[in-house]
Amino acid sequence: MIRIEHLQKSYGATRAVDGIDLSVAPGELFAFLGPNGAGKTTTIRILTGLTRLSGGQVRLNGHDIESEPLAAKRQCGLVPQHINLDSELNVLENLDIHGRLFGMAPAFRRQKIEQLLAYVELEDRLHTLVKQLSGGLKRRLMIARALMHEPRILFLDEPTVGLDPAIRRRIWSLIKRVQQDGTTIFLTTHYIEEAEFLASRVAFIDRGRIVALDQPQALMAQLGHWAIDQMNGEGIQTRYFATRDEATQFSAGQDFGFTLRRVNLEDAFLALTGKKVM
Ligand code: ATP
Repeated sequence: MIRIEHLQKSYGATRAVDGIDLSVAPGELFAFLGPNGAGKTTTIRILTGLTRLSGGQVRLNGHDIESEPLAAKRQCGLVPQHINLDSELNVLENLDIHGRLFGMAPAFRRQKIEQLLAYVELEDRLHTLVKQLSGGLKRRLMIARALMHEPRILFLDEPTVGLDPAIRRRIWSLIKRVQQDGTTIFLTTHYIEEAEFLASRVAFIDRGRIVALDQPQALMAQLGHWAIDQMNGEGIQTRYFATRDEATQFSAGQDFGFTLRRVNLEDAFLALTGKKVM
């Protein structure tokens, strides 16, 4: 559904995207994970036609984004990082405008708006002004808007940034449901647990390059399954173990305090890039 070959984007001397190759299968939920400035948003902007690439090739459902930009764009729904709804308009109007821009007939627009508002559980907010919605409701409306023209691929750029943990989990359920209903999802995030929970495959991106790409479980298993964190003079030191027994055996001989826990995706990211995802 998404095929990216040698993708490059430069801003002056900055190589925001520096030779990315990857493919995403139909119905897959793929996550792009990386620290600030890694090139995640730039990649999504290129894939959704908001920025031109400097080199390489991208095909969305078989359509080349450079030679068939309109056909390629029709494949995509985008939920950008920053809320870009019309805050002076109500929920219904925001969705209706999007439908008009995509040339949807009035009857189909009405039917789709009704269906999507039920889907994101906003059906009782039809006439509420967007500026009166909470952050979580705005995010849900943005997802509904991106789905209006029935895209095959949904791009989500940091879909839960700034939301509290309970609301974040509601958005995760919604994203999972969209995937289960057949939409391919390309997600960028710097919330590790979001990628770990949602994605079937994850690419770690750092300074415009993919440094690892695999299933979350496979990336974590490279280190082991259990971790012990221990404070010493230089900060937190983490050791990895294949089994809980090995970890507890090690901890039995320790004089200092420690924490025993499961290995998580952040450990894998740290081990591969030497940095935290923040
Ligand atoms: P964040 O998590 O902060 O959104 P990101 O991984 O999405 O980060 P990008 O926004 O894609 O990263 O930025 C990648 C690099 O490209 C950064 O060095 C950034 O400063 C630079 N960059 C992005 N957009 C532009 C632009 N329009 N002009 C110049 N440089 C840019």
